[in-house]
Amino acid sequence: MKGVGRYAPSPSGDLHVGNLRTALLAWLFARSTDRTFLLRVEDLDRERSSDAARLRQIADLQAIGLTNAERATRRGAAGRPPTIRLRGGPVRYQVSDTLHSSYEGPAHDVVLQRFDGAIAYNLAVVVDDIDQGVDQIVRGDDLLSSTPTQLHLTSLLGGVPAEYVHVPLVRGADGHRLAKRDGARSE
Ligand code: GLU
Repeated sequence: MKGVGRYAPSPSGDLHVGNLRTALLAWLFARSTDRTFLLRVEDLDRERSSDAARLRQIADLQAIGLTNAERATRRGAAGRPPTIRLRGGPVRYQVSDTLHSSYEGPAHDVVLQRFDGAIAYNLAVVVDDIDQGVDQIVRGDDLLSSTPTQLHLTSLLGGVPAEYVHVPLVRGADGHRLAKRDGARSE
Protein backbone atom coordinates (compact mmCIF):
# COMPACT_ATOMS: atom_id res chain seq x y z
CA MET A 1 0.00 0.00 0.00
CA LYS A 2 1.20 3.52 -0.79
CA GLY A 3 2.26 5.34 2.39
CA VAL A 4 1.01 8.71 3.60
CA GLY A 5 2.87 11.79 4.85
CA ARG A 6 1.23 14.92 6.20
CA TYR A 7 1.63 18.50 7.32
CA ALA A 8 -0.74 19.33 10.17
CA PRO A 9 -0.82 23.04 11.04
CA SER A 10 -3.07 24.54 13.70
CA PRO A 11 -4.98 27.46 12.10
CA SER A 12 -4.05 29.81 14.94
CA GLY A 13 -2.33 32.46 12.82
CA ASP A 14 -0.25 32.93 9.70
CA LEU A 15 2.41 30.40 8.76
CA HIS A 16 5.88 31.79 9.37
CA VAL A 17 9.06 30.90 7.49
CA GLY A 18 9.77 27.96 9.84
CA ASN A 19 6.29 26.51 9.32
CA LEU A 20 6.62 26.89 5.56
CA ARG A 21 10.02 25.18 5.64
CA THR A 22 8.60 22.25 7.65
CA ALA A 23 5.65 22.00 5.24
CA LEU A 24 8.03 21.98 2.27
CA LEU A 25 10.23 19.33 3.92
CA ALA A 26 7.19 17.19 4.74
CA TRP A 27 6.04 17.49 1.11
CA LEU A 28 9.53 16.66 -0.22
CA PHE A 29 9.95 13.68 2.14
CA ALA A 30 6.55 12.35 1.09
CA ARG A 31 7.10 12.91 -2.62
CA SER A 32 10.63 11.48 -2.60
CA THR A 33 9.43 8.29 -0.90
CA ASP A 34 6.39 7.90 -3.16
CA ARG A 35 3.86 8.74 -0.49
CA THR A 36 0.57 10.59 -0.73
CA PHE A 37 0.79 13.98 1.00
CA LEU A 38 -2.05 15.30 3.17
CA LEU A 39 -2.63 18.80 4.46
CA ARG A 40 -4.50 18.26 7.71
CA VAL A 41 -5.79 21.34 9.50
CA GLU A 42 -5.70 20.78 13.27
CA ASP A 43 -8.50 23.11 14.35
CA LEU A 44 -8.83 21.63 17.82
CA ASP A 45 -8.38 24.81 19.78
CA ARG A 46 -11.60 26.70 19.06
CA GLU A 47 -10.44 29.93 20.68
CA ARG A 48 -7.21 30.20 18.74
CA SER A 49 -8.42 28.73 15.44
CA SER A 50 -10.09 30.77 12.75
CA ASP A 51 -11.39 30.08 9.27
CA ALA A 52 -9.58 33.19 8.03
CA ALA A 53 -6.24 31.83 9.26
CA ARG A 54 -7.01 28.40 7.76
CA LEU A 55 -7.73 29.95 4.35
CA ARG A 56 -4.58 32.11 4.51
CA GLN A 57 -2.48 29.07 5.46
CA ILE A 58 -3.87 27.09 2.52
CA ALA A 59 -3.25 30.04 0.18
CA ASP A 60 0.35 30.41 1.44
CA LEU A 61 1.01 26.68 1.02
CA GLN A 62 -0.37 26.88 -2.50
CA ALA A 63 1.79 29.94 -3.15
CA ILE A 64 4.98 27.96 -2.40
CA GLY A 65 3.82 25.22 -4.76
CA LEU A 66 2.25 22.64 -2.46
CA THR A 67 -0.77 22.49 -4.72
CA ASN A 68 -1.52 18.81 -4.71
CA ALA A 69 -2.25 18.52 -0.99
CA GLU A 70 -5.37 16.54 -0.24
CA ARG A 71 -7.27 18.19 2.57
CA ALA A 72 -8.77 16.64 5.67
CA THR A 73 -10.33 18.87 8.50
CA ARG A 74 -11.42 17.92 11.80
CA ARG A 75 -13.47 19.19 14.69
CA GLY A 76 -13.42 18.16 18.32
CA ALA A 77 -16.56 16.98 20.11
CA ALA A 78 -19.09 19.46 21.51
CA GLY A 79 -20.39 19.60 25.11
CA ARG A 80 -18.66 20.07 28.46
CA PRO A 81 -17.44 16.72 29.80
CA PRO A 82 -14.71 16.64 32.49
CA THR A 83 -11.07 16.47 31.40
CA ILE A 84 -10.10 12.86 30.67
CA ARG A 85 -6.46 11.83 31.03
CA LEU A 86 -4.51 8.69 30.26
CA ARG A 87 -1.78 7.67 32.70
CA GLY A 88 1.66 7.33 31.13
CA GLY A 89 3.41 5.14 33.64
CA PRO A 90 6.88 3.61 33.48
CA VAL A 91 6.74 2.68 29.80
CA ARG A 92 9.51 4.12 27.60
CA TYR A 93 9.45 4.27 23.82
CA GLN A 94 12.19 4.38 21.23
CA VAL A 95 11.48 6.83 18.41
CA SER A 96 12.58 5.83 14.93
CA ASP A 97 13.68 9.24 13.63
CA THR A 98 15.82 10.03 10.60
CA LEU A 99 17.59 12.92 12.40
CA HIS A 100 17.48 11.68 16.04
CA SER A 101 18.13 7.99 15.55
CA SER A 102 18.49 7.01 19.20
CA TYR A 103 15.85 9.18 20.87
CA GLU A 104 14.07 7.41 23.69
CA GLY A 105 11.70 8.79 26.31
CA PRO A 106 8.86 8.10 28.75
CA ALA A 107 5.14 8.06 28.00
CA HIS A 108 3.74 10.99 30.01
CA ASP A 109 0.25 11.35 31.49
CA VAL A 110 -1.76 12.91 28.70
CA VAL A 111 -5.06 14.76 28.33
CA LEU A 112 -7.38 12.94 25.93
CA GLN A 113 -10.42 15.20 26.12
CA ARG A 114 -10.40 18.74 27.47
CA PHE A 115 -12.88 20.09 30.03
CA ASP A 116 -14.66 22.01 27.25
CA GLY A 117 -15.29 18.78 25.37
CA ALA A 118 -12.64 19.28 22.67
CA ILE A 119 -10.54 16.25 21.84
CA ALA A 120 -6.99 17.06 22.90
CA TYR A 121 -4.12 17.32 20.44
CA ASN A 122 -2.22 14.14 21.40
CA LEU A 123 -5.25 11.88 20.97
CA ALA A 124 -6.50 13.63 17.83
CA VAL A 125 -3.13 13.54 16.09
CA VAL A 126 -2.64 9.83 16.82
CA VAL A 127 -6.18 8.85 15.79
CA ASP A 128 -5.95 10.89 12.59
CA ASP A 129 -2.51 9.49 11.72
CA ILE A 130 -3.77 5.92 12.18
CA ASP A 131 -7.05 6.63 10.38
CA GLN A 132 -5.31 8.27 7.41
CA GLY A 133 -2.58 5.64 7.17
CA VAL A 134 0.16 8.23 7.83
CA ASP A 135 3.48 6.41 8.08
CA GLN A 136 5.87 9.37 7.69
CA ILE A 137 5.74 12.37 10.05
CA VAL A 138 7.91 15.43 9.35
CA ARG A 139 7.49 18.22 11.93
CA GLY A 140 9.33 20.60 14.24
CA ASP A 141 11.60 19.10 16.90
CA ASP A 142 9.64 20.86 19.66
CA LEU A 143 7.35 17.83 19.36
CA LEU A 144 10.12 15.22 19.76
CA SER A 145 9.61 14.82 23.52
CA SER A 146 5.84 14.27 22.97
CA THR A 147 6.51 11.45 20.54
CA PRO A 148 6.99 8.63 23.11
CA THR A 149 3.60 9.62 24.59
CA GLN A 150 2.06 9.55 21.11
CA LEU A 151 3.70 6.18 20.46
CA HIS A 152 2.13 4.91 23.70
CA LEU A 153 -1.31 6.01 22.46
CA THR A 154 -0.57 4.53 19.04
CA SER A 155 0.28 1.19 20.62
CA LEU A 156 -2.87 1.18 22.82
CA LEU A 157 -4.99 1.95 19.76
CA GLY A 158 -3.39 -0.85 17.74
CA GLY A 159 -1.56 1.45 15.33
CA VAL A 160 1.86 0.99 13.77
CA PRO A 161 4.60 3.54 14.64
CA ALA A 162 5.38 5.95 11.81
CA GLU A 163 8.80 6.98 10.56
CA TYR A 164 9.64 10.40 12.07
CA VAL A 165 11.76 13.32 10.87
CA HIS A 166 11.88 16.01 13.59
CA VAL A 167 13.52 19.04 12.01
CA PRO A 168 15.18 21.91 13.97
CA LEU A 169 13.00 24.98 14.50
CA VAL A 170 13.69 28.18 12.63
CA ARG A 171 14.37 30.96 15.17
CA GLY A 172 14.08 34.72 14.97
CA ALA A 173 17.10 37.04 15.11
CA ASP A 174 16.69 37.21 18.91
CA GLY A 175 16.97 33.41 19.17
CA HIS A 176 13.33 32.88 20.07
CA ARG A 177 11.27 30.35 18.16
CA LEU A 178 8.74 31.77 15.72
CA ALA A 179 5.12 31.20 16.69
CA LYS A 180 1.99 31.46 14.56
CA ARG A 181 -0.09 32.72 17.45
CA ASP A 182 2.37 35.57 18.15
CA GLY A 183 1.71 36.78 14.63
CA ALA A 184 5.27 35.92 13.56
CA ARG A 185 5.88 36.80 9.93
CA SER A 186 8.18 35.38 7.32
CA GLU A 187 10.44 38.38 6.84
N1 GLU B 1 -0.61 21.09 14.82
C1 GLU B 1 0.76 21.15 15.27
C2 GLU B 1 1.34 22.53 15.01
O1 GLU B 1 0.80 23.31 14.23
C3 GLU B 1 1.64 20.08 14.59
C4 GLU B 1 1.28 18.70 15.02
C5 GLU B 1 2.05 17.55 14.34
O2 GLU B 1 2.65 17.73 13.28
O3 GLU B 1 1.99 16.46 14.90
O4 GLU B 1 2.36 22.85 15.60
